Amino acid sequence: MSKIAIMGAMPEEIEPIINKLDNVDMTLYGANKYYEGSYHGQEVVVAYSKIGKVFATLTATVLIEKFGCDRLLFSGVAGAINDELNIGDLIIAKSLCQHDLDITAFGHPFGYVPEGDVSIDTDQTLRNIAQDVAKQKGLTLKEGIIATGDQFVANEERKNWIGTTFGADALEMEGASVAVVCNALNVPFFILRAISDSADMDASFNFDEFLESSAKISADFILSMVDELGR
Ligand code: SAH
Repeated sequence: MSKIAIMGAMPEEIEPIINKLDNVDMTLYGANKYYEGSYHGQEVVVAYSKIGKVFATLTATVLIEKFGCDRLLFSGVAGAINDELNIGDLIIAKSLCQHDLDITAFGHPFGYVPEGDVSIDTDQTLRNIAQDVAKQKGLTLKEGIIATGDQFVANEERKNWIGTTFGADALEMEGASVAVVCNALNVPFFILRAISDSADMDASFNFDEFLESSAKISADFILSMVDELGR
């Protein structure tokens, strides 16, 4: 039977999911907690990685290699770049890139290293399923480019640079790591984020205020997707 990985970066992002699982069994591994359980009969493994690219890489790898997950769904919050995105809005990544990866001194573009790609696409089938779920719920689901880096961006200039350089609509600190892992290991993956702030001067205040509510919006959507995938 298929096993779906559900990953977040922070406890707030996965708690609303763990609360809804049956037969939960927790395993401590590599300094993270992994929750195996089922949601309406579908086997899932849920974990938060801790913040940033390195921790996210570790957790995505463990979910696939140790727990045998064959699909990965990420749920969390992000800062908006695109003006159309307001706090609480959902965005799914069509592709992801690393905005802080820079060997441009050698003539390469930002976000590129040899034998890698500037951007990695998420799974089209999972995106289509997400759009079906959105339609059923009467929600609009924006698809766009998400930029990842080891920085909490709270600066208009940096945010605009990321927007222009990568054509990015939103930014966060884990998605592209998950993309690299899943792409390398051939595991279909999906990245969903609900906006918590606009990566500007007010970002840290907005983040603190809206983390919980936005994380819940994203988590609820992911659970509906699991239902759809289990059909
Ligand atoms: N408040 C936390 C730190 C949060 S870091 C603490 O003090 O412990 C921000 C987290 O939310 C990351 O996991 C990232 O993926 C996402 N995120 C939301 N808004 C962001 C922004 N403006 N810049 C970068 N990441 C952001």
